[in-house]
Amino acid sequence: MITLASLRNTTETIKITAVIDTALCVGAGGSAGSLADKPIVRNAEKNLLIPASQIKGRLRHECEKIARALKWDICESPKPDTMCPQRTGVVGNFGRKEYQIRRGSHCLICQIFGNSVLPSRILFDDLVCTENPDDLPEVIRPAVTINRRRQTAEENKLYFLETSPANASLKFTGQIHLLPNWQPDIADSDRPDFAKALIYAGLKHINALGGSKSTGLGWLHWEIDASEFAVEEAIWSFLAKGGES
Ligand SMILES: [Zn+2]
Repeated sequence: MITLASLRNTTETIKITAVIDTALCVGAGGSAGSLADKPIVRNAEKNLLIPASQIKGRLRHECEKIARALKWDICESPKPDTMCPQRTGVVGNFGRKEYQIRRGSHCLICQIFGNSVLPSRILFDDLVCTENPDDLPEVIRPAVTINRRRQTAEENKLYFLETSPANASLKFTGQIHLLPNWQPDIADSDRPDFAKALIYAGLKHINALGGSKSTGLGWLHWEIDASEFAVEEAIWSFLAKGGES
């Protein structure tokens, strides 16, 4: 028989799939073997991929917004000195009991995503395109730098973007791994494990990735099996209590 206690000591692995609704442009420039200034990232097998760091950074940002909207005080990432446990210049109720864990006072987001003293509980795979790369044409599109103030194209600022083919509904699949909650808080040991609920809500808020969102590149939606994110009612009511303390 599986007990709740044993589940809490197990790493949970959840499959997530991003479906790219428009052409996707991700990654930094300078990758060898491509003419493009901003190529899509490819792995050694030439598969297109969305780097795990992209997903993790965006997900943390979305989870922070959700937690703040629920009136939990959250530190300011990504600079360590304004994050827990230092929080230089950050005002808020960080002395509340839900934030007291064995390694000091850490907001709900740091308890999931980690900080300079707390390891992250969540690990991400790169999301790998399921399409055979040999079947995908390489798309290079020219772009110009726009001067936002003047709304004009700047001279000599033509560059090239490598993107995935437009409107191909490419699927990128990978896993997230949620490690056991090894830092039970001292003051409130009955507190439910809220990580999965926040991650689920955060993922739903990511509807674009990569550079050039304003030009329509990188819109996506998720195919996520909701049953993998089955969350007890008590956890949602815990999260809803951000303003009570
Ligand atoms: Zn924090």
